[in-house]
Amino acid sequence: MKTFNVPIIYRSPLITAIKNRRRQEDRMKKDFKPTLLDFGALKILLARHFGFCYGVENAIEIAFKTVEENPGKRIFLLSEMIHNPHVNSDLLEKGVQFIMDTSGQQLVPWDTLQPDDIVIIPAFGTTLEIEARLSELGISPLQYNTTCPFVERVWNKAEQIGQKNYTVIVHGKPGHEETRATFSHSRHNTPTVVVKDMSEARLLGEFITGQRAAAEFPALFKGQYSPGFDVTKDLQRVGVVNQTTMLATETQAIADYIRGVIMDRYQLTEADVSERFADTRDTLCYATNDNQSAVNGLLQEPGDLAIVVGGYNSSNTSHLVELCEEKLPTYFISSEEKILSRDEILHWDFHHKQELHSHHFLPDQAPVTILLTSGASCPDALVEGVIRKLAGFYGVNIDEAAMS
Ligand code: SF4
Repeated sequence: MKTFNVPIIYRSPLITAIKNRRRQEDRMKKDFKPTLLDFGALKILLARHFGFCYGVENAIEIAFKTVEENPGKRIFLLSEMIHNPHVNSDLLEKGVQFIMDTSGQQLVPWDTLQPDDIVIIPAFGTTLEIEARLSELGISPLQYNTTCPFVERVWNKAEQIGQKNYTVIVHGKPGHEETRATFSHSRHNTPTVVVKDMSEARLLGEFITGQRAAAEFPALFKGQYSPGFDVTKDLQRVGVVNQTTMLATETQAIADYIRGVIMDRYQLTEADVSERFADTRDTLCYATNDNQSAVNGLLQEPGDLAIVVGGYNSSNTSHLVELCEEKLPTYFISSEEKILSRDEILHWDFHHKQELHSHHFLPDQAPVTILLTSGASCPDALVEGVIRKLAGFYGVNIDEAAMS
């Protein structure tokens, strides 16, 4: 895979060495067992895959290169570059401005932009409406485009099935930049509706079977369907695509569920289900698959607690947290700074969107085993920082310690 020129401050020599060693030992990426960092009283199990993905490295390379090559020019990002506060604040420090916040609220009025301004499209991509607005302002929307190719692959898949008259069901978070962009691209070609989870998929199922009156649809899916969407006609042939960072098992369950409803409703068999249900497997990106599989591999090992590092508004990271939480106490932190002491930690409760302050997060008995991973937008340097801080509590200098 292509390598990118990412600022050295985001790299970690320790993590790079571990990743390189694992890559050489397992080129086909079949081994999802974690790496053991054995510091005696502290054992850290590091997930097989974590950290910057292709799309994030690509976006960071383009953004920093654009800043470097355009001194004196006003540079804007449509919204957060990626969902990592450290990377975003580094860009802000370099003078880059965000036009919108992550929920789409305007921070810089459109009419203040000039044709010679630079506007960078983030890794999530953007809507066709915003592309058109930039063009009207005389700014080329695609000149500084960091949209991840794996997001574009979803748009292409939605377009392909849309051209075959399937309605597109997007499994994603309706307010997330990527889902807003995918929704925009898809509805340009075909009727499109967004479902955020299995309960919304079940609601949609009730419209497919006719159990629920069509009149209820607008209120139940407000803001999540394309203009003119007609539940009596537009749910007869469907396909499911997703926001690339959703939980793989949930997307699969939603696709299987909708497929089953369609088969029952139209008395279809395996031989003819494709008449009304498009095959769209594989719209999760490789990084989401790898990172979630690696967490499943991590959770096969016994541990006392899990720490997941990443931006609090990062979708892919929150899904890693969700997987860990099912098995053991889990702390979602944005960096080692959240570990206040051996006894205190600040951590994000993504269910209730609040930061919690917990005590006694490390057990008293030794050895302590911690499962550790990070999201696709988290610099490895932050993970190394967490390892260093934890090791310090046990009197370990990780530069001297052996890695097994
Ligand atoms: S998580 Fe996947 S889709 Fe998103 S930026 Fe990374 S590689 Fe691209």
